Amino acid sequence: MKCGYAALIGRPNVGKSTLLNHLLKQKISITSRKPQTTRHQILGINTTESAQIIYLDTPGMHFGDKRALNRYLNRAADTSMLGADVVIMLVDGLIWQEYDELILNKLKNADIPVILVINKIDRVADKTALLTFIAEAQQRYPFDAVIAVSALKGANLDELEKSVVDLLPEGEAIFPEEQVTDRSERFLCAEIVREKLTRRLGAEIPHQLTVEVERYEEQANVNKIYLIIWLEKESQKSIVIGKDGEMLKKIGIDARADIEKLTEKKCYLKLWVKVKKGWSDNERALLSLGFNEQ
Ligand code: GDP
Ligand code: MG
Repeated sequence: MKCGYAALIGRPNVGKSTLLNHLLKQKISITSRKPQTTRHQILGINTTESAQIIYLDTPGMHFGDKRALNRYLNRAADTSMLGADVVIMLVDGLIWQEYDELILNKLKNADIPVILVINKIDRVADKTALLTFIAEAQQRYPFDAVIAVSALKGANLDELEKSVVDLLPEGEAIFPEEQVTDRSERFLCAEIVREKLTRRLGAEIPHQLTVEVERYEEQANVNKIYLIIWLEKESQKSIVIGKDGEMLKKIGIDARADIEKLTEKKCYLKLWVKVKKGWSDNERALLSLGFNEQ
């Protein structure tokens, strides 16, 4: 048996969470076009007859912005990367940025095997350019493997999984074989609501909202879930609620569909909108909203 941790690392928006969901054939990490969608470290566990791969989806690393939320995101990304058995480093299509160099600099002295994953190849028409890019990448760093995939279309993911298993250490499974993530259903429900908010309102309210579970009642045929959407400013309330409550209603409908799929149960969902000034730059407020080092 082989078992170990594989950290998904890369610029915001390269497709780390999409890849994780497709590797697990289940949605456990939320995704959107907005950078910084993933805020919490989340484990995705895939157990086969001969291996257990524990993927870590990490918040993207944000060099530059020093606010408290970004400091937290940086720490979480560093910790999971340097503690992993294998690093899966994603790049987006054939684009190589300074950011990717910074990641490789952090890995250089760490002695961890690194797989380079070139994602979004469904958008790459020029296969010669792809081969050139792969050759250049291998000059830059002694990658243990270079694999081109499309996370969204599920292309080449078996090959990726095989090379991860090859690089994992020998060991017994850490988690029970039926367990898919370390996160509770209530956490995933709050994340689903945040995904819908980010997708519908991302441009208007960049990173300034978070979702807290106020009450979660499991009953025989229905889950009753009461959530608070926290905003930074009073003026953002009308955007989230919308004219006659239309926006909030749409978000509730989108979220309920995904939550019912996840829990395989009917869901009664109640959303409130409240304001907590400066939560994204206040360490205490962050802790109270569940952003902790674990
Ligand atoms: P993360 O920030 O690295 O976790 O990125 P996400 O998984 O949230 O994805 C960012 C965006 O890229 C989303 O809109 C995804 O649908 C999109 N995306 C991810 N993988 C692919 C892919 O293989 N092909 C294409 N065309 N889009 C992708
Ligand atoms: Mg993500």
